[in-house]
Amino acid sequence: MNTKIAILGAGESGVGAALLAKAKGFDVLVSDSGIIQNKYKTTLNKHAIIWEESKHSTEKICNTKLVIKSPGIPNTAKIILAIKAKAIEIISEIEFASRYTTANIIGITGSNGKTTTTSLTNFILKNGGLKTIAAGNIGNSFAEEVCNENNINNYTLELSSFQLDEITDFKPNIAIITNITPDHLDRYENNFDNYVASKFRITKNQTKNDYLIYDADDSAITHYIENNKINATLLPFSITKKIKNGAYLHNNTIIITIDHKPLIMPIDTLNLQGIHNTKNAMAAATVAHLMKIRKNVIRESLEHFQGVEHRLENVLKINKVQYINDSKATNVNATYYALESMNTPTIWIVGGVDKGNDYTELFSFINEKVKTIICLGTDNKKLLDNFENMVDNIIETQSMNEAVNIAYKQAVAGDSVLLSPACASFDLFENYEDRGRQFKDAVRKL
Ligand code: ADP
Repeated sequence: MNTKIAILGAGESGVGAALLAKAKGFDVLVSDSGIIQNKYKTTLNKHAIIWEESKHSTEKICNTKLVIKSPGIPNTAKIILAIKAKAIEIISEIEFASRYTTANIIGITGSNGKTTTTSLTNFILKNGGLKTIAAGNIGNSFAEEVCNENNINNYTLELSSFQLDEITDFKPNIAIITNITPDHLDRYENNFDNYVASKFRITKNQTKNDYLIYDADDSAITHYIENNKINATLLPFSITKKIKNGAYLHNNTIIITIDHKPLIMPIDTLNLQGIHNTKNAMAAATVAHLMKIRKNVIRESLEHFQGVEHRLENVLKINKVQYINDSKATNVNATYYALESMNTPTIWIVGGVDKGNDYTELFSFINEKVKTIICLGTDNKKLLDNFENMVDNIIETQSMNEAVNIAYKQAVAGDSVLLSPACASFDLFENYEDRGRQFKDAVRKL
């Protein structure tokens, strides 16, 4: 008899885990409490993997040796409590996949900048000649990539804190924590310390032969490091202070030093602008320098990296007005960096589902740069309460077309129109991609 394994959740990571488990000879049951998307059903059927939807058959699931839990399922779910009561091992898809590869692993987590830093890191490594794949929260799941593994020598993984919550032995050779600001606190008993600790799980199995790259200007990160034992070799980056081993900014130049070997790059040649992108570039270039990618390759890659859709993406310039899609800014910190990077008068489109936002850190940018605020959400009251007295024009809208048309009328040559919502999207849109696409479509129709 093959060992039985149950996989909870049939999304990208669950289906990836199922493919790998099947390929490794397990007897697999995939169970989803909701409806499984057709494309995933097709894949599961093609590989003769048994699945169920709209329910969890507790008895069958509790009759397995191992459960792989998708990151979306909270630990408080009834089925998880039942599995725990039977003392069955529960792991994440990341943990499971890591047991079947010996490739080098770079794990990237943080509140913001994960996708950008993952894509950029992978881009540099690929240009440097490595056979590398970006996976995890980006592209295919890690498990699916491991299942298809063919001569891969590196994985660059984007990892959410939920994915890290259920690891036991997973150990990236290089870990990055981009930053930690409040997000998803509902999953962490509204306790920021729990969320910080969850991010730091990325380094829990690392040894001194592994590396942890992190933002040394981030007080949540440095506070944790000062108060907890970290085994990995630390390579911090900073834009405010000199760093001996790691990366820092001096006279608009990034200086990365590892074992006394420096790499130097002026930031005005970086294709992605803004302080947050300088930080992302520092983190990615530190990985590349560590992995001995040629300096010229690193520099050229940073000059040519095009960025990722929906992240401060320049859409069009119409009548000398730049339209920018930053739909992925689903929290205040991401919007902070968007506003920070603006150097023209700005018409700011903001709103959606508020996750307990505190807008005070944006106030100085609003005073300095924002001339009009366009609220785009079903409930705009909090935005009105916060910003009413700060700008001449604050306008409520409930559709993207309306918001973009009003922005067009308000804008004069030299302005920018920035969609950077600081909120989740599901009141008016399917997800942030849908919101960003609707923005771009509306702009193209102007
Ligand atoms: P994540 O994958 O962590 O959500 P993304 O790279 O998709 O991060 O970027 C999400 C949002 O955060 C975008 O609005 C982007 O412009 C902004 N952002 C990117 N890098 C950083 C950073 N280092 N610090 C703060 N915000 C960032």
